Amino acid sequence: MEKIILTGDRPTGRLHLGHYVGSLRRRIELQNSGEFDKIFIMIADAQALTDNADNPEKVRQNIIQVALDYLSAGLDPSKVNIFIQSMVPQLTELTFYYMNLVTVQRLQRNPTVKQEIKMRGFSESEDGSDNKAGTPVGFFCYPISQAADITAFKATTVPVGEDQEPMIEQCREIVRKFNSVYGPTLVEPEILLPDNAACLRLPGTDGKAKMSKSLGNCIYLSDSEEEVVRKVKGMFTDPGHLQVSDPGKVEGNPVFTYLDAFCRPEHFERYASCFVGKKSSFEFHSLDEAKAQYRAGGLGDMMLKNFLAAILNETLEPMRQRRAELEKDLPAVWEILRKGTQAAEAVAAQTLDDVRKSMRINYFDDSELTGLK
Ligand code: ATP
Ligand code: MG
Repeated sequence: MEKIILTGDRPTGRLHLGHYVGSLRRRIELQNSGEFDKIFIMIADAQALTDNADNPEKVRQNIIQVALDYLSAGLDPSKVNIFIQSMVPQLTELTFYYMNLVTVQRLQRNPTVKQEIKMRGFSESEDGSDNKAGTPVGFFCYPISQAADITAFKATTVPVGEDQEPMIEQCREIVRKFNSVYGPTLVEPEILLPDNAACLRLPGTDGKAKMSKSLGNCIYLSDSEEEVVRKVKGMFTDPGHLQVSDPGKVEGNPVFTYLDAFCRPEHFERYASCFVGKKSSFEFHSLDEAKAQYRAGGLGDMMLKNFLAAILNETLEPMRQRRAELEKDLPAVWEILRKGTQAAEAVAAQTLDDVRKSMRINYFDDSELTGLK
């Protein structure tokens, strides 16, 4: 069986460090591994519209931003197909058929949907009256449309962050249901989570559980060096760690989580002794050593943050440079999207044909039914 990847992002803003460690960095490794027959990367504009119906301009403007982030991070259009979701209409038709294979009750149990409804203030108040505008039906159903996206490309592997686990499970259920009702047609995908625990769900700079465009707690891949320094300096740490000499908490401290996600041994070689404070200097040889010192007391937040900002800026600098180059010729980037979308549509159309055949709703191709030649 072919090994195929499908994954993507909502164009609701530029991509941030959470996207990078949760999925993007892995995609680039997989693209370069040569182990996959096909890789599809989707800019999920239709999904973004499910909770931005009144702001299509935001979605529209961010398509190119996400594409720039992809290319500057290292996705290579000669190896991957980058495409725009709404320009592949077969995905919508598949969604419509899959809707009959999922119950409202099952969707209501999806923990990510539940949490996102709450986060967006869509939920009903206690007495059942409308709190805000309520939940758009399209938003409620987005796990089904995501199943359509994945299965349209017969994806075997979906590299995503931990918040997507319930979505992939729901997709697998739809595949099993479809295949059992209509005969073997669709492929059951596997989730590919980051192997580093810190990357499963990178917290925000405010210490909230998830860095998310919607929460305004992000460091963007396209942030300038100064912005990165400013955001890192303002990061939440252990509120009980007031003096440098106080013992501090490492668990739940996002500065350490970011270091877990980004720090490599060579960073200690490069930056040890670079940061010198009034009472101490940053002289560690490993993250474990720095953590032990922080726990015991004697390692200041500012010094630690300087180290983190240096590592982040070192990681982001090549992306900034590539982005600046790409920004000089945006039509060339749009052309990459157009070509990728054409190729994606051809594959999705084939799957839709298979689906209609299995469901026996391909009436005009069925001469037994119609007697047509
Ligand atoms: P929105 O707030 O619009 O939902 P988002 O920031 O949650 O945006 P998505 O486009 O929904 O981003 O997510 C795209 C991909 O990035 C998914 O695979 C998701 O798991 C991953 N991802 C997003 N945020 C994080 C994070 N903080 N840590 C790890 N992975 C993440
Ligand atoms: Mg999201």
